[in-house]
Amino acid sequence: MKISVAEQAGFCFGVKRALKLINEYQRRGKKIQTFGPLIHNIPVLKELAAKGIRHVDRTSEIDPGKTLCIRTHGVPRDTELRLRRQGIATLDATCPLVKKGQKIIERLGSDGSPVLIVGDKDHPEIVAARSYAPKVRIINSLAAARALPRSREISVVAQTTLDTVFFKEVVAVLMDKADRLHVFNTICQATQERQEAVRKLAPRVGAIIVVGSKVSSNTKKLFQIARAHNRNAMRIETCADLRGARTLARLKKFSSIGLSAGASTSPQELDNVKKFLQKL
Ligand code: SF4
Repeated sequence: MKISVAEQAGFCFGVKRALKLINEYQRRGKKIQTFGPLIHNIPVLKELAAKGIRHVDRTSEIDPGKTLCIRTHGVPRDTELRLRRQGIATLDATCPLVKKGQKIIERLGSDGSPVLIVGDKDHPEIVAARSYAPKVRIINSLAAARALPRSREISVVAQTTLDTVFFKEVVAVLMDKADRLHVFNTICQATQERQEAVRKLAPRVGAIIVVGSKVSSNTKKLFQIARAHNRNAMRIETCADLRGARTLARLKKFSSIGLSAGASTSPQELDNVKKFLQKL
């Protein structure tokens, strides 16, 4: 069986940076907790927990004796201000590309203009991003874009992990919705590269497996793209998900399998899956 790994897969720049920051901090003997899960990947979170780095979900759960690490998705502006007011020591691991999007939203909304965000309203990145302008509208479907009223001006940004093709489709709909359309392509490069690599690989292999957490937005998008190009697309969290008898029987039928992984999947996890498949 031939196993091909997508040209770009696994840990992105923002995740590597966050893990480096937190590990360096801990090496210096500092105690640390994260605000929400640092990244959306259970094996990585388990590794952090084994080192004593756990996450809190509410400000009331914060241990004042530990530094609070802000995760890659960032936090809403009022939360950041509240933490500062309470004198809580923080380590900001918000991805600089997420921050870039927040700054664009802040600038666009600074005169009270509405800002349109294309993304998942419940995702932590968007929950934080929407706090940067007073008037924000969030859409996540072509139907929602079509339902928007016509206006003189629309400024639109994207969730960093959005499907690039979907964003272009939304923008095409918006062309008919405003006299002046300002498009800010805030989809990050790591996302674009991983999506492109899956588009290239999926049609060339018998089956394609995307490794990543169920709650990871970018993994979900990679899987959707994989499935659109290969009907034998699977999504797994870890190698253990491949061990079922039916899955094994299914996999053995293919002479080639492609592998991709979300931006929060570690190289070790991807390697485990690759080695497991090579032994079939
Ligand atoms: S997916 Fe992109 S925006 Fe998100 S953490 Fe990685 S590099 Fe940053």
